[in-house]
Amino acid sequence: MPDGPTKSRVHLLRVYDGGADDILARLDRLLQESDLRKIAAKDKIVAVKLHFGESSETGHVKPLFVRRVVSWLLQEGARPFLTDTNTLYRGSRSDTVLHMRTAAEHGFTYSAVGAPVVIADGLRGTSEVRLPVAGQILKEAAVGSELVKADSILAVTHFKGHELSGFGGAIKNLGMGGASRAGKLEQHSTTKPYVRQGCIACGICASWCPADAIRVGEVAQIDEQTCIGCGECIAVCPEKVVGIRWNESTDVFQRKMVEYLKAITSLKRDRIGYLSFITDVHPLCDCYGTAKVPIVPDLGVLASVDPIAIDQASYDLVNEAPAARNSSLSEGYRAGGDKFRDLHPDVDPTVQLRYGEELGVGTRNYELIEIAESARSSAG
Ligand code: SF4
Ligand code: SF4
Repeated sequence: MPDGPTKSRVHLLRVYDGGADDILARLDRLLQESDLRKIAAKDKIVAVKLHFGESSETGHVKPLFVRRVVSWLLQEGARPFLTDTNTLYRGSRSDTVLHMRTAAEHGFTYSAVGAPVVIADGLRGTSEVRLPVAGQILKEAAVGSELVKADSILAVTHFKGHELSGFGGAIKNLGMGGASRAGKLEQHSTTKPYVRQGCIACGICASWCPADAIRVGEVAQIDEQTCIGCGECIAVCPEKVVGIRWNESTDVFQRKMVEYLKAITSLKRDRIGYLSFITDVHPLCDCYGTAKVPIVPDLGVLASVDPIAIDQASYDLVNEAPAARNSSLSEGYRAGGDKFRDLHPDVDPTVQLRYGEELGVGTRNYELIEIAESARSSAG
C-alpha cells in the first residue's frame, strides 16, 4: 500500500469510439504519467505477469498491447520477461512446454512482443519459494520462484468476471496466478486430490509423487495422510482422472488469494505495478477455452501501484457502464446494479477488496486521474 495519502492514485486511459486504436494512441502516455515508472528502473529484471489465455480463448490482453508495454520497459532501461505460472488442472497451460506453445499460438513470441517467455514455476509447476504470510488463514504462500527472483513485477491484468471470486482482476492475477501448483491447490481445496473412475493403473502418478503417497493396485489410491498436496499427480495423469475437490467456499477462497498477494507485496514492497485492461470483459475466467459475449463495451486501461484500488476502480467502472447487448446478464438485470453479482449470484466479489484493505495490501479509496483525450491523436 503506498505511503502518504489516504487515496491511491489510479490513472485511466478511457476508450472512446476508437477501440484498440484509442489504447494504442495513448498507452505510452498512461505508462509515462502513471506511478509505474519506479518499477522500470535501469537494468532491473521485470516480470510482466500475464495470463496467456487457455487454448481457443480470446479475452486475454492482446500481444499488440503487451508489445507496447515491453517497449516502454526497454526504453526505461529495464529487462522485461513475460511470465505466468502453470495451471492446477490439466489443460493447454499445465506444464511449461504446453504453456509456452499456447503462449506462442496466441502471439506471445519474442519476435512479436520483444521479450522472452519464462514460466515462473518451472517445467511442471513445482519450482516455488515459500513466503511467510501475515494473514488470518495461511502461514506461508507457495509462489512461483521466478516471480520471487525478479527485481520488480508489472501485473498486466485482463479484468473480467470469475465464477469463484465474482471478478478476476489484479488481486487474482498475482494472488492466484503467482502461486505454484501446490499453492493453487491450497487456495482451491481443503482436501487432497482423489482418483476418479477410469484409472488404468499405469503408475505414472506414483512414479512422480514426491511423498510416496500413491499405491497402485487395480487402481491408484492416494493416502491423504502422507500426501503433501503438491498437485503433481493431477498434472501427470494421462487419463485425467486425478480430481480436485473444488470445495473451498468462495469467501475463504478469496481470502486465501489475498493472503498470497499479501505475501508477494510484502516481499516486493514498492516494486510492483498494475495495469488493468477493461476490454473484452467476459463473464468467466480466461481459463475457459471459449469466447463469450462481453458484458460491457471496452472501457479502457487503468494503471496504479495499488492492487486494491485498481480492482475497486475497475469493478466500479464496469458496474457504472451500460450493459452490452446479448451479454450473459440475466433478463432481470437492473441497470446500475452489480453486474458481477448478477452473473454469479452466490459470490460476493467485494470480499477480496475488503480483506485486501483489512490486511493493508491497499485501499479501496482511490482518485481516478484521466489521461486527456485531446492528446490521443498526437501520441503513440
Ligand atoms: S498431490 Fe503430490 S503428494 Fe499428493 S498424491 Fe499427488 S503427487 Fe503425491
Ligand atoms: S496416472 Fe492416472 S491412470 Fe495412471 S495410475 Fe495414476 S491415476 Fe491411474
